Amino acid sequence: MARFVCKKCNYRFESYAKNVKKECPYCGEQEIKRELSAQELLELE
Ligand SMILES: [Zn+2]
Repeated sequence: MARFVCKKCNYRFESYAKNVKKECPYCGEQEIKRELSAQELLELE
C-alpha cells in the first residue's frame, strides 16, 4: 500500500501503487502527492 495526500484538503488515503487514484476521493482535487513512509524517508539518506 502507498499513502497519498490531497494537496487541496490534505485528506489522506491509501491505494495500491499500481492502481493510484488520480483524484482525491474526498473533494475531487486532482493534485495528489505521494506521502513517503518512514521507511522510505530513511532510505533517502
Ligand atoms: Zn481533497
